[in-house]
Amino acid sequence: MSFSSLGLSEPLLKAVAAQAYTQPYPIQKEAIPAVLIGSDVLGIARTGSGKTAAFVLPILERLQTEHAIRNRYVRVLVLVPTRELAVQVGDVFKTFGSSLPRRVKSLAVYGGVSINPQMMQLQGTQVLVATPGRLLDLVNSKAVHLSEVETLVLDEADKMLNLGFKEEMDKIFSLLPAKRQNILFSATLGQDVENIREVLLHDPVKIEV
Ligand code: AMP
Repeated sequence: MSFSSLGLSEPLLKAVAAQAYTQPYPIQKEAIPAVLIGSDVLGIARTGSGKTAAFVLPILERLQTEHAIRNRYVRVLVLVPTRELAVQVGDVFKTFGSSLPRRVKSLAVYGGVSINPQMMQLQGTQVLVATPGRLLDLVNSKAVHLSEVETLVLDEADKMLNLGFKEEMDKIFSLLPAKRQNILFSATLGQDVENIREVLLHDPVKIEV
């Protein structure tokens, strides 16, 4: 099976080939078509499985549709537990998003560094990759608005919960519109992740690799 049978368009297929991805990994074979049609997805997958491209590619494809962009109203929110993962996921969005006909602007924001440069870069951002605490700081400063988020991704949800972000996550969920796509990735499926899944996911496609 090749990437071209998964429903991605030519510009993304070229970008995938440019990264020397020849075959989709198992998580990508299942997640890409599901995300493309707008389904909620529960992915149980570890780092190294190719989970990042499994959501980045179909999300970028969905952002290629005509859409009026309101400044500071992000369309895609990716929550991650750590600064390192924020940078890593942000880089994958940039790598694939920069070569598309409708350029997609993405930004990674995280704590431990000055907030002002992040605020200034938010202009025109469609995909925001964020750690929970810093995201709430930006929301409270009205630097970013979450009421038009179309797709929410929780990456490494188990780690986010283990690091004690539950309260921040709940606050963030309360700011999102009810109608949206939800994608949850976790390396493990313990009770705390199950609880989040029950609250967030509607009839998800479940993928375990
Ligand atoms: P991840 O699990 O998302 O952290 O990805 C692990 C590594 O696999 C990253 O270095 C990706 O660039 C690489 N990768 C992801 N998908 C593919 C693929 N289909 N073919 C080759 N490498 C890939």
